[in-house]
Amino acid sequence: KLHIGVLAVQGAFIEHERVLESLGAEAFEIRQLRDLDRPMDGLVLPGGESTVQGKLLRDLGLFEPLQKKIREGLPVLATCAGLILLAEKLSNDKSTYFATLPVTVERNAYGRQLGSFFVQHDLKHVGNIPMTFIRAPIINQVNDGVEVLAHVDSPSIGDKIVAVQYKKQLALAFHPELDLDRKVHQYFLGMI
Ligand code: GLN
Repeated sequence: KLHIGVLAVQGAFIEHERVLESLGAEAFEIRQLRDLDRPMDGLVLPGGESTVQGKLLRDLGLFEPLQKKIREGLPVLATCAGLILLAEKLSNDKSTYFATLPVTVERNAYGRQLGSFFVQHDLKHVGNIPMTFIRAPIINQVNDGVEVLAHVDSPSIGDKIVAVQYKKQLALAFHPELDLDRKVHQYFLGMI
């Protein structure tokens, strides 16, 4: 059985836990430092508010140990705010967080208020899936070694990269945990 740590300081973590458990994995919540003592085969960074998550990660002393594990190759599934936490660079924000994923990300790229939408679209290696975007970031630039898994054309801002993989880091601008389709999580567990 795979043991997946789900960052549970803020945001849509419960939804990820339910999907992972329905696929036969064991999901446990990471809320404090001692949660990192448990065996962990993979990590989920959920959607939410990246500024809040980043601050809590530091306040709780989770930031450095998690960054080290990701750098050392711990498989990560990051959605929305999670993608922002992984990005090496943010085009419209001076902060960076784990900075383990060599891409440039733009926060709230679709606009803050009207930025939520839904499409059905292909994700490379995974297939056709529902994609729900909620005040989503986009990936503006990818560096060497980063594989683009999907770009989505939207009327507001045009064709943009919304999913990438770099080594064992799978990062998505949308929220697969909010739809019934479980193929993304299945792919992630397979990747481990
Ligand atoms: N707008 C959020 C942020 O910048 C991300 C939105 C989300 O995770 N749904 O952190």
